[in-house]
Amino acid sequence: MYESKFFRARKIFGHVTLITGLGGEQAYLIEGGERALLIDGLSGVGSLKAFVRELTELPVTLVNTHGHVDHIGADFEYGEVRIAPEDIELMYAHSSREMRLDFAKSGAMFAPLPTEPRLSDVTVPGPVKTLPVKDGDIFDLGGVELEVIAVPGHTWGTVVFLDRDLRVVYSGDSCNRNTLLYGTESASIEEYKESLLHLKDFLPAFDGLWGGHGGGAETPDIVEDAISLCDEIMAGTDDGIEAMGFGGRPCLYAKKKDERFRRLDGGIANIAYSRDRIWKKDI
Ligand SMILES: [Zn+2]
Repeated sequence: MYESKFFRARKIFGHVTLITGLGGEQAYLIEGGERALLIDGLSGVGSLKAFVRELTELPVTLVNTHGHVDHIGADFEYGEVRIAPEDIELMYAHSSREMRLDFAKSGAMFAPLPTEPRLSDVTVPGPVKTLPVKDGDIFDLGGVELEVIAVPGHTWGTVVFLDRDLRVVYSGDSCNRNTLLYGTESASIEEYKESLLHLKDFLPAFDGLWGGHGGGAETPDIVEDAISLCDEIMAGTDDGIEAMGFGGRPCLYAKKKDERFRRLDGGIANIAYSRDRIWKKDI
């Protein structure tokens, strides 16, 4: 374990370090023989770039699983990022320092923060050189390869990364115990199910999903579980529990849960959605 005021780092595999920000958001530093890949940039409260420099001397490529506030903070420090083109506008929309500071402070809901973050701690937004990332891309780090799988749903530009040797997926917010699909930046449930079926094709290749929140890995069962939920939502047979989402947006939870997002029926996945975003829109 290595930590600063703003970040905690722990090795989860020999060449993979999980880095957690104040808000509980998670990034992964993957070191190959020649390069390192930093999957996600946290909320940008504190200098992630300086922290990563303490962990590796390799040249670092930054990539975003998607463009949300808690994943893009280091983009403005590195000045260059690989991101799906669909999420570039979202990345800039979520660049405000106040918004990112608020996210970091929200970590206090779960545990006391090691520091009281201030606006001056937040990376200053500015223009970022964005290079595309898309389904099927391979990141070759020298003896370590990551394969990109597009999973549009949580956002239109969501991508995940498969390491076939380690048999893991770095899954961002694509499929978890609290998958949020009610935002205007989200795909419909119908389209999300198509994405999950694409991810399902890769199930024989991995044993765990390391996501953007939550600490540990989920088992691959969560993918099939989420597909079933999509079917239930489209059939109108889910629990449809009314709740209030981020930004005061009303949403529905597909399954009853406790306050720590554990499903009461023993299932794993859960989806928060909006009734007007179940079906594909005709273009
Ligand atoms: Zn997100």
